[in-house]
Amino acid sequence: MTRADERDQRSSADGAQGPHDLDPTVTGDLDEVLAGALEHARPYAEEGTLPTRAPSVAEVDPTRFGIAAVELDGTEHVAGEADTPFPIQSISKVFSLVLAMQKAEDGRGIEAELWQRVGVEPSGDPFNSLVQLEHEEGVPRNPMINAGALIVDDVLVTHCEDPPGDMRSLVSELAGEPLDLDGTVLEQDGESGHRNRAMAYLMSSFGNLRNPIDRVLDTYVHQCAVSMTTRQLARAVRFLANHGVDPATGRQVLEPASARRVAAIMLTCGTYDAAGEFAFNVGLPCKSGVAGGIVGTVTDTMGVCVWSPPLAPSGNSAGGTAALAYLAERLRISLF
Ligand code: GLN
Repeated sequence: MTRADERDQRSSADGAQGPHDLDPTVTGDLDEVLAGALEHARPYAEEGTLPTRAPSVAEVDPTRFGIAAVELDGTEHVAGEADTPFPIQSISKVFSLVLAMQKAEDGRGIEAELWQRVGVEPSGDPFNSLVQLEHEEGVPRNPMINAGALIVDDVLVTHCEDPPGDMRSLVSELAGEPLDLDGTVLEQDGESGHRNRAMAYLMSSFGNLRNPIDRVLDTYVHQCAVSMTTRQLARAVRFLANHGVDPATGRQVLEPASARRVAAIMLTCGTYDAAGEFAFNVGLPCKSGVAGGIVGTVTDTMGVCVWSPPLAPSGNSAGGTAALAYLAERLRISLF
């Protein structure tokens, strides 16, 4: 029995007709819920702030807001600016990890190497913190913070011929259309990435980063610069809700066990040091980015994505977090 079936059974057993019993597979209702999520979340977005530290996103219009949900059968639901592209930034850490795990599934011993060099525990620190790295001898807590993503990229530089190109191909395939790069991110984030460079040098000093630092940083900046809409991102994460199979093509992107691991890392580490709050209020595997995007997956049901640029102090989109909490509550899709 799928989770959707279980939910149906639970709803009819309750006999309840209230808003909590909306089923995400009902087209009309889900469109309404997305519009409701957007309205509900706008005041929260107004309380957020644009990240002055990240020049490429410091000057975007803070009222922009889009949301999309794409079901496994391909039905797409959107509200607001769901077709406006924005840089995926840290959301790309999901896709770079997927690429590394694909290489690991090729059976070249990469999996063991990967999990020796990066952990799977929440950090409880901001995404760009250097503090833990010194204490923990250059082994980042998880692949969803910058230091961990740099280790994943180092693995990709070793095992891919063209890591930025391979990553862009993977995400384009999952989104169902070719994707562009955001020129501003490429230019400005590359120049302003002093912290990322510092982390890379620190990890090199511990012997945990092995390739030339510039190649690793270049891979990282290129993945952050991939430009996508909420609709495309909601499509692109569906394979994680579908046991590793892209429902659009039937391709097994990852083995089911690997897909579960990626989702588990998103749940526990995907929203920086607010992962506990996300589990508490949303209850879905999610990954956020500094440009205000957040993706989420609902097992056996759909991929979701929300975009609203102002951030909460945790670095997650303030409006996006509120919108996802609303969706989770209305649709009863929390894992818990
Ligand atoms: N390019 C950004 C950085 O490295 C991405 C971080 C993020 O989205 N949180 O700082």
